[in-house]
Amino acid sequence: MKRYTTTSPEETIALGHSLGNALPGGSVVCFFGDLAAGKTTFIKGLASGALGSSYDDVNSPTFVYLNIYGEERKIYHFDLYRLDNSDDFLAKGFDEYLHCGEDICCIEWSEKIKDLLPEGYISVTMVHSGDGARTITIEGT
Ligand code: ADP
Ligand code: MG
Repeated sequence: MKRYTTTSPEETIALGHSLGNALPGGSVVCFFGDLAAGKTTFIKGLASGALGSSYDDVNSPTFVYLNIYGEERKIYHFDLYRLDNSDDFLAKGFDEYLHCGEDICCIEWSEKIKDLLPEGYISVTMVHSGDGARTITIEGT
């Protein structure tokens, strides 16, 4: 387990970038943390690190649940805020993305599908810790 404190969105992006850079294919990265904790900001950095280019078009797929970035290697970016439960996730056929081969899956609001999370997932927990500061705990790498 590793714990970090960032004091700006830029620092969170940089942390996401270094994780993204180091992720093996097939990684499932599960995010825990309230609204505006910085999950999407972190994934912005992660996508750039994993795809080797700057990804400015990363945003929360709150209404569509899933955004896909990348060409050869892909990143599946879920935002499950509006999802009811894991049955809903299965009914939409999303579980195929949890076994993502050489690709990477990032899930905001992972607690909604806690019972479906695959063994060996990486967790990123983000907590507000003052104005502009976030405590970020990464486990499972
Ligand atoms: P979430 O996806 O968890 O709802 P976002 O990444 O969309 O959160 O939003 C985080 C908000 O908090 C942004 O407006 C960002 O500018 C702000 N922010 C302030 N400090 C930080 C920080 N240290 N890390 C990440 N975001 C921060
Ligand atoms: Mg978000």
